[in-house]
Amino acid sequence: MKNLRTIYTRKFHGENDFSLEHMRKIIELALESGYTFMTCREFMACDIAALPKRVFIMKHDLDAKPDTLWPLLQLETEMGVKPTVYVRVCAPDYNVMSLRVMPELVWWQNYGVEFGLHTNFVEYTKLAEVGQDINNTQLLRAEVQLLKNFLDIRGMSTHRDLNYAYNALPWLEEHWDDLKDVLDLDYQAYDPKLMDNTIYVNEGYSPHLCWRNITPEEAIATGKHIYMLTHPHWWWVTNPFESY
Ligand SMILES: [Zn+2]
Repeated sequence: MKNLRTIYTRKFHGENDFSLEHMRKIIELALESGYTFMTCREFMACDIAALPKRVFIMKHDLDAKPDTLWPLLQLETEMGVKPTVYVRVCAPDYNVMSLRVMPELVWWQNYGVEFGLHTNFVEYTKLAEVGQDINNTQLLRAEVQLLKNFLDIRGMSTHRDLNYAYNALPWLEEHWDDLKDVLDLDYQAYDPKLMDNTIYVNEGYSPHLCWRNITPEEAIATGKHIYMLTHPHWWWVTNPFESY
């Protein structure tokens, strides 16, 4: 009789499964191919000409299920990778201040993980029709300040649940020059310096979970700087449904 573990650990998506074992292979391939891992903050602070020849920026947006982040960070730090993780303050799915989350984030920051704010502030302020006008800057300042009480936050990344949800990025880009001073931040994660000087690799639904434009393996083969976004709640240790 087959044991359950054998059944659940079979490959679900051919070569493009979203297991941590696959992530380990991606990191291994990048390291073997001469890539240097940098956080978003480190990349943004460096002149493009002064960067190592092949840079790999590992970015994670923590949309939901914080418990799925810890094994990923364990794997990455063990392999010498310093990722950048953007966490939500106004998420309906988790409370960043809960005992299961903030103390863990503080702990991982000590291991070189960079944390930033992940937010769809435009959606929040548009939908918050409670008789009080909450403006974008007010909400952003509150989110950043809360995180800054515990973490060294220098960047932020906009979140979007679905394609028909409000996109906060255009407003952010339009107001960024003033906002970065108001919020005391250095960068936002879709800055042209990051987007124009790297190959962007990300997963998403189309309609099933897949790599959007290029796989990590294809990107690594180009030898160009790589900026890779993944969402921890879609990745798994033993089976894709372990956190459901
Ligand atoms: Zn997101």
